[in-house]
Amino acid sequence: MKKNIIIFLILIAVIFLIVFKKDEQNIFKEKYETDDVYYQIFVRSFADSDNDGIGDFNGISQNIDYFVDLGITGIYLMPIHPSPSYHGYDVLDYYDVNEDYGTLDDFENLVTVAHENEISIMIDLVINHTSDQHPWFLASRSFHNDDHEKYKDYYTWTDEDDERFGKLGAWNQNIWHSASGKYYAGYFSNQMPDLNMQNDDVIEEIRNIGEYWLNIGVDGFRLDAAMHIYGKNEVVMDDRTQENINFWKEFSIDMRLINEDVYIIGEVWTQSSVYADYFGGLDSVFNFELSDIIVNSAKTGRNDLYTYSINRLYNKFDEVRPDYIDATFLRNHDNDRIATVLNGDISRLKLAAEMQLMLPGVPFIYYGEELGMKGAKSNGPYYDETRRLPFIWADETKRTTWFNDSFNIDVEQAELQQNDEDSLYNTYKKLIDLRDSSIALKFGEFISWESDSSTLQGFFRYYSGDSYEEELIFVLHNIGKSDTAELAPDITGEIIYFSKGINNYNNVSLSKGSTLVIRLNPEDFETYLNK
Ligand code: CA
Repeated sequence: MKKNIIIFLILIAVIFLIVFKKDEQNIFKEKYETDDVYYQIFVRSFADSDNDGIGDFNGISQNIDYFVDLGITGIYLMPIHPSPSYHGYDVLDYYDVNEDYGTLDDFENLVTVAHENEISIMIDLVINHTSDQHPWFLASRSFHNDDHEKYKDYYTWTDEDDERFGKLGAWNQNIWHSASGKYYAGYFSNQMPDLNMQNDDVIEEIRNIGEYWLNIGVDGFRLDAAMHIYGKNEVVMDDRTQENINFWKEFSIDMRLINEDVYIIGEVWTQSSVYADYFGGLDSVFNFELSDIIVNSAKTGRNDLYTYSINRLYNKFDEVRPDYIDATFLRNHDNDRIATVLNGDISRLKLAAEMQLMLPGVPFIYYGEELGMKGAKSNGPYYDETRRLPFIWADETKRTTWFNDSFNIDVEQAELQQNDEDSLYNTYKKLIDLRDSSIALKFGEFISWESDSSTLQGFFRYYSGDSYEEELIFVLHNIGKSDTAELAPDITGEIIYFSKGINNYNNVSLSKGSTLVIRLNPEDFETYLNK
């Protein structure tokens, strides 16, 4: 009898483990199915189709060949919803599109055209807060009206007696704003009231919004302000970070039930020790620290710790979820553009692209980055418009004119770069093509190559698994600014990439700011590691 009970208990445990493991596996996108290269677009700035000077969905659809030519397989659109602001990060209606950008039909057509060209469409999902003009908030702030009772708790309201009242947010900003004799939480501004994610009705609304766009054909979401769902001093919680992660994990599970291929990435703009934990709730998070490592290395030309620092990040992510999908970028719409940071130096910009695109994970390219477009936050009357300037088409009929761009007058325009073999555009194109041709570059492990040089930094990418043939790649950057290259390692194989124009690799030296990629015989791997 006792034996039967033990067998029974073991059986229960096995069933539990199978079910639990299956559940865990299904929450996240499969790493080996995620080889997209994404392109981030500010719709207002990209391409105009109806000559009103404002970028629109049809402008993107009509220029789909541009992405195909570059090798892009995913487009991430910054907010597409109606909004009182030019940027759209305060939404008025989650079920419609901004009329400046076209109609819902135009958007659906864009999804169709993109899919016909094997390009995924990801949209910005800005649900931490709404616009203060959103009907939910207008109803919520008139909660004295019984008809609006339902919406009262859609947002977080306090009064002077509340323990949270007067306390500041994560960057010491005021988060409590006065209305209707009470105070509502607005983490980013009084025009962006925070939705109350402790209200099940609100959580249901967000699930419905996600479902709506997945049913339209959207392939993924970029989650804005993902770490502020339960904001500091906005809610009383023991572990806000874990609650934020749990919130997104539930969301991911819900979305995956609707589309099992959905790809969900969070903006968790903080230090890696915090955002690493979000791999426990999301397919991906943007790797902010990595972007700074690349940009600073490209800028200074020295970094003894380039490979080491990157490896340390990956180890941190591995501890949270071994099949995490990293998301790399150089700069985004909230940063000064890399071409401004690197003073328009095309060879350094090529190096930065080489550094980003030879690393694991899903790369995100900010529109115009491939052209060396410039832009920086100005001290004038504008906010971030100058980081989100009109894309520089040579064809003026496509070019958007909603903002006067004084940054990019001398930067070579898109069509011209496409026809210029040595252009930054064609470096991006070659690197994307190279990734596409290499399983190790797409999916392989990152293995450090030990270097005691401050300018010569390298690593291996190694794939070994059941799905594809084993492959070993060696990537070497001379991030230095001096032509006096240090000794390169004695590693020989098939050279599959070589920075054009500035390079001379002869197994001895690698000239300044250049990159070399070699395909090695995997059987020799032990030998190289022991060197
Ligand atoms: Ca237009």
